[in-house]
Amino acid sequence: MKLFLDFFRQEVPKSSGRTFLYYRQSMRLNDQMLAIYFFVSFVLVSAAAKRLFWLPILFQAALLLKYYRSEHISARVNLLLNALIICGWTVWYVLSFGWGVGGQHMLIVLVLLVFFCLYETPVIKTCYLCLLLGLRMLLFHYISMHPPRYVLDSFSLFLMQTVNSVSLFLILAGMCIVYSSNLQEKERQLLLNNEKLQQEAETDPLTGLINRRGLHDIMDNFVRANPEAMYCIAIADIDLFKRVNDTYGHNCGDYTLRRLAELFTEKAEEKYAVGRWGGEEFCFFFPNVNIDEAGEIITGLLIDVRRMELAYEGHRFSITLTAGVEENDYRSSLTELIESADRKLYRGKQNGRNQIVF
Ligand code: GH3
Ligand code: MG
Ligand code: MG
Repeated sequence: MKLFLDFFRQEVPKSSGRTFLYYRQSMRLNDQMLAIYFFVSFVLVSAAAKRLFWLPILFQAALLLKYYRSEHISARVNLLLNALIICGWTVWYVLSFGWGVGGQHMLIVLVLLVFFCLYETPVIKTCYLCLLLGLRMLLFHYISMHPPRYVLDSFSLFLMQTVNSVSLFLILAGMCIVYSSNLQEKERQLLLNNEKLQQEAETDPLTGLINRRGLHDIMDNFVRANPEAMYCIAIADIDLFKRVNDTYGHNCGDYTLRRLAELFTEKAEEKYAVGRWGGEEFCFFFPNVNIDEAGEIITGLLIDVRRMELAYEGHRFSITLTAGVEENDYRSSLTELIESADRKLYRGKQNGRNQIVF
């Protein structure tokens, strides 16, 4: 019921010259298969009722004319012309040869075309559906009371019924393949784009490290999944980084940040996750690690940073870091622990920098 109501509420794009690729493809495929069907029917009709041979040619001509003009007409007119051709064909076919040959099958193709069309409102689609159903019922009642104009021999009947059934199945299958493969492809692209966007949203473009949001997610997920687990958080900040920028230029500052990121990534070895927390601040998350082990790792990192040789456009220099480390105390929230690590970092800066505060 909800599905039904949603269908009536849905917004449908306005009919325009720029139709969606899959809709164009399915329309073209439908026209091509219908043209083959008309050709085969022409052969069969000519054999069964010679005087009628020109009628399949007439429908074929109308279809081909529409096919070659389809790029220049709107999706709505295209659908309407299809409806006229298929309905006209069905009426003529059933009145000429009766219900048993299955000419009415082609109305089902039209139902599919109408409902796959994105350019018609739900109300118009429902009108199409009612009209098609009405036409089919009317034809059935008429032909059950009036004999067809041509009584076919059993072989012709068998051939025409076979052609109609096979054509219906092939056209339906062809259209479903176009729609389902296009939908699958679109969904695949959407998933890939989402993944890419998610990755971009959580990556710092300068250093390639995860950003604050990404690291926060990692920490949050870990804490949620392991409420009893031990973990530590450290925040490290480059000492007097402004001087690097002021002395050697902003590009040199960027280079320094990238070199640090490389070092931190290289040394991580699944012992910690590291992200760029802010301008020249990095945050480290040590899952299942106590403060002694975390302290050891961060001390090693600070030594590596001090020893790191930085050279940019002929300038050689070195930097130091100050860090604050906090351990899960099972009372404070993640945010409180981060704030506490930040306060320790600030104390380290006030105490003369280039140190770790536990
Ligand atoms: P402190 O030891 O107290 O941290 O001193 P500091 O100079 O490092 O700190 P301050 O907050 O005074 O300056 C931080 C500098 O970091 C200023 C800003 O230009 C620089 N910075 C922040 N983000 C970037 C960046 O992406 N690239 C570059 N090159 N510099 C950045
Ligand atoms: Mg700094
Ligand atoms: Mg800072």
